[in-house]
Amino acid sequence: MATPNSASPQTPVEARRIVLAKRPQGEPQPDDFRFEDVTLPAPAPGEVVLQTLYLSLDPYMRGRMNEGPSYAAAVPLGGVMTGEVVGRVVASNDPQWRPGDLALAFAGWTTHAVINAKELRRVDPQAAPIETRLGVLGMPGFTAYVGLHDIGKPKAGETVVVAAASGPVGSLVGQLARQAGARAVGIAGGARKCAYVKEELGFDAVIDHHQTDMARQLAAACPDGIDVYFENVGGEVWNAVFPLLNAFARVPVCGLIADYNGITARPGEASVPELMRAVLSKRLTLRGFINYDLESYRDAFERDVGAGVRSGKLRYTLDIVDGIDQAPQAFMGMLKGRNFGKLLVRVAQ
Ligand code: NDP
Repeated sequence: MATPNSASPQTPVEARRIVLAKRPQGEPQPDDFRFEDVTLPAPAPGEVVLQTLYLSLDPYMRGRMNEGPSYAAAVPLGGVMTGEVVGRVVASNDPQWRPGDLALAFAGWTTHAVINAKELRRVDPQAAPIETRLGVLGMPGFTAYVGLHDIGKPKAGETVVVAAASGPVGSLVGQLARQAGARAVGIAGGARKCAYVKEELGFDAVIDHHQTDMARQLAAACPDGIDVYFENVGGEVWNAVFPLLNAFARVPVCGLIADYNGITARPGEASVPELMRAVLSKRLTLRGFINYDLESYRDAFERDVGAGVRSGKLRYTLDIVDGIDQAPQAFMGMLKGRNFGKLLVRVAQ
């Protein structure tokens, strides 16, 4: 049956998209975003029109709203907010792609986009639910896998700690650590997330970072110290972890979400000289990484995590909001821990 979007390459397609209106000062606000309704140009040879089905909302997007040097370019003012989507080709001017094909692409916060076909990666809906390509089987899952295996290298009997433990990165880190025979200690915000991490994901222990005695509880949960700290958040959690790091501990520095809205000085925080003394005396390894640095792990990731998800041994949860108009609120909420699981916007069925 024809739908309004089963268009020939020439049929104009209307898109609703969200652009960066202002650079946030601290926490993003609704008026940092602007909605635009536009008519897309027809795809040129080698291009397709992709309709977004699911848009992934991720913490890194906060960094892209800032100007200044970083590992990736900022979204320009007036530019479409960056983001990865799973979409459906609705019009194609490329021989490799036909209407109805499913693909991953960095289309941004938009209902439809004209995309160079070379930037599409095919999605097979038979292999796994398409939403997982943005979560456990996508960029966040890959991040967990490569950071843990390339830098964390947990051994049987060691203690691995990870925060944002109910989210797509942290939840997989803990489950993979347990598969390696290590003890997994999660840190999460609130009783509901903590219950999920312990009871459904099977972590050995979980700490609620909203509790005022988080540091004491973490020390009690890690009687033999910490061998791998998978750094997702920084802030108060790092302050609680730092004194517990064992000699030869490994710290994959993956994310620092506590400071994405601006770096705040915290009383009692270790100074740089104190940190460096610990790096030397405890022979710590702290290494930052961006997931795409470690592309050589792709096949192993697809094999191991794919099998774990298919068999049900690796668990994940999705937090799905409906409608592109919800993206700014949902994104702002995620930075405050309001999401529960991989945050996706269902833009179309
Ligand atoms: P999540 O879906 O887990 O969402 C972020 C979570 O961070 C929130 O739900 C909240 O969970 C937690 N959080 C927010 N503020 C704080 C705080 N001040 N202290 C403690 N926890 C906080 O995110 P992801 O799994 O997608 O990402 C996790 C981290 O990994 C992020 O820092 C992200 O930037 C990073 N990342 C890095 C990549 C890389 O290549 N280096 C790639 C992908 C992600 P809670 O309520 O439990 O506290």
